[in-house]
Amino acid sequence: MPRKIRFGPAGYPLEARGNVKKVFKILSDAGMDAFEYAAVYGLRTKEEKAKLIGNLSKEAGIAMSMHAAYYINLASNTSRIRKASKQRLVKALKFAPLMNVKRIVFHAGTHGNRSRDEAHVIIRDALREVWEKAGASGEGAYLAPEIAGKLSTYGSKEQIIKLCQEVDGCIPTIDWAHIYARNQGKVNDKESYLKIITQFEDGLGDLFVKNMHFHVSGITFTEKGEKAHRPLGQEWGPDILPLMEIVRECGYKPHYICESTNPLEGALYTKFLYEELEKVSK
Ligand SMILES: [Zn+2]
Repeated sequence: MPRKIRFGPAGYPLEARGNVKKVFKILSDAGMDAFEYAAVYGLRTKEEKAKLIGNLSKEAGIAMSMHAAYYINLASNTSRIRKASKQRLVKALKFAPLMNVKRIVFHAGTHGNRSRDEAHVIIRDALREVWEKAGASGEGAYLAPEIAGKLSTYGSKEQIIKLCQEVDGCIPTIDWAHIYARNQGKVNDKESYLKIITQFEDGLGDLFVKNMHFHVSGITFTEKGEKAHRPLGQEWGPDILPLMEIVRECGYKPHYICESTNPLEGALYTKFLYEELEKVSK
C-alpha cells in the first residue's frame, strides 16, 4: 500500500463508550484513516479482543499505532522498573500483529539521577534488548520513541535522532506540541518547522521520511516545558497550519495523530485544514 497522509485520534472516542465495534464505526463515519490505540495505563487487552481490533481496523482501512504505558521508564533508578518497562515493550511488539499495529509509541523515561549521556546509553541498550527479543514477532511494527514535552525528561530531538540511529527498529514520533513547549512557543512557523523536519531527515533519511508519525494538539507550558494538552485551533499554540503547509509543499506523507483534549474533534480539524489547503492549490 503506498503511503498517504492520514488523520486520526489518540484513544477511543467517548461516544463509543468502550465498545470496539462502535469505535471503528465512528472513526470511519468521520472519515478517519488512522488511530492510536491508547494502552497508556498498560496493555490489558486479551488476545481475542486484540484480534477483533486488528480485524476491524483492517476492514475500515485504518492505520494503527499504539501508545504504550505512561509509566515505562527504561532509565529508572529502580532495576525492577527498568525490567518491567522492557517487558511492556516486548509485550506490545508481540501484540502488534494481532492488532494490526505498525508503531509502538512510548516515552523512553526520565534521566533519573544520571547524566543525559548515561541515561541515553541505558535506554539505548534496553531498546536493543527489546528489539532482539521481540523485533521479529512485531512483524514490521516499529518502536517509536516520542519527543518529550518536559525538558527534564529523556527525549530531546537530538536524543531521539541518536536513539533511532543506534537501535534497529526505532523511528521517531514527533509531538509538535511537545516541541513547541520545549522551545517556549518558538517553533510555530514554516521556517522553524522545516528546520526540525530537515534535522530528522538528515539524521535518519528514508527511515524517517517513509514512517513519519506526528502528534498534534494545543498545549500550555512553563519554562520547564509541557504543562497540559489543550484543544487545537483555539487560543493555544502551536499553529499547525504552517506545519501542514510546509509538509504539503515538500511532499511528505505523515500520519497526524491528534492528542488534544477532544482527540476526534482535533483530528477532524487537522483533516479540515489539509483539505482546505488542497482546495486552495487547485
Ligand atoms: Zn504525544
